[in-house]
Amino acid sequence: MHIEQASESELKTRLEELYASYDQLAERKLALDLTRGKPGVEQVSLSDSLDGVLAGDYRAADGTDVRNYGGLDGLAEARALFGALIGTTPEETLVGGNSSLTLMYQVVDFAMNEGLRGEDTAWALNDSIKFLCPVPGYDRHFSICEYMHIEMIPVPLLESGPDMDEVEKLVKADPSIKGIWCVPRFSNPTGTVYSDDTVERIARLPQIAGDHFIVMWDNAYAVHTLYDDAPALAPISEYCRKYDTMDGVFQFGSTSKITFAGAGVSFIGSSERNLSTLKAHLAFQTIGPDKVNQLRHVRFLKDSAGVTEHMEKHAALIRPRFEAVLDTLDRELGGTGMGEWTAPRGGYFVSFDTRPGLAQEVVDLAGNIGVKLTPAGATFPYGKDEADRNIRLAPTFPSAADVQASVDAFVVCVKLASVKQRLA
Ligand code: PLP
Repeated sequence: MHIEQASESELKTRLEELYASYDQLAERKLALDLTRGKPGVEQVSLSDSLDGVLAGDYRAADGTDVRNYGGLDGLAEARALFGALIGTTPEETLVGGNSSLTLMYQVVDFAMNEGLRGEDTAWALNDSIKFLCPVPGYDRHFSICEYMHIEMIPVPLLESGPDMDEVEKLVKADPSIKGIWCVPRFSNPTGTVYSDDTVERIARLPQIAGDHFIVMWDNAYAVHTLYDDAPALAPISEYCRKYDTMDGVFQFGSTSKITFAGAGVSFIGSSERNLSTLKAHLAFQTIGPDKVNQLRHVRFLKDSAGVTEHMEKHAALIRPRFEAVLDTLDRELGGTGMGEWTAPRGGYFVSFDTRPGLAQEVVDLAGNIGVKLTPAGATFPYGKDEADRNIRLAPTFPSAADVQASVDAFVVCVKLASVKQRLA
């Protein structure tokens, strides 16, 4: 039954049934959580042999003893391995510590306070500093901006990626726009893979916008496919070379969701010029990264083929959880007009849009029966989803049984909120 076509008496009957189902769920005293974009315990266990993989051999390929200080760039073999994942050469790749978010923060901080092209280019010298934020997006990107008093301008994320007509129009018109956040493959939360044309247009943005502008290309899910036929991402570096814009693009990635979350390695790809400028800044913060962990990762993952093989094991574990969510949404809500959702081919999330004005209510209804959902609005700058529609579902961390129980409860909450709204 499509909700728009239901008569008032049908809706009233439906509402009674839904309250009955909701009350039954409440009696079960559930304690479920679909909020956490974390790998599950079986996933992290796939990398347990990182522990011990060095077997007493602490020498990197060039003879460096990784137990000692030094090497701000990261190990050569780690730069080759992780550069290959994001499409940068070893010279264009710096391998850091355990978090790519830290690297992103450091780049924005550096551009803000020191200036990427000398101190008179520091963004902080301007009264107004803005960033474009494709929405829905990743809340921690938005938190960095908020913390640094960067005004965020939401731009729609289309099926092809950010609305590039809008993006180009905005950067041409407003030099106080200093950058854009992008999660180009399996976006958080929608699972969007940017189209080739979008990647090319983003690579050209620094040319259109000018020297002050940077693309924050957070390729956190670069290799996190769920299916073999998952769409590939065009390599932005190649377009940057074509348009000579490598200086305006910073690429990021990490092994947080490849090996151990929070105990992996992170990396950044950009022009050699940018990396040497950045290193001059980093040198005040650290003598060098954890090379022991970098070497462990190289020995464990070996090469790109090793990474692909490892990611297939992740996919085998989490695909059934995604399918449980999607099958249930299709079966229970398909054709009802009560919501729209994405069917990602990779990444960590399913993005669900309620009917306008209902996301907060659905999150509250679910919370009241013990099903924790990501706060409504979290996927928007300042936590403000004007349409109050978007909810991010994260099915990787709970057990398969808990994912099913959570989504069963979720659809009851969506239906209840939708029917109530129609009767209001
Ligand atoms: N970027 C995106 C888009 C993410 O979704 C996440 C984690 O959920 C991160 C970055 C965090 O990465 P890291 O663990 O390397 O700091």
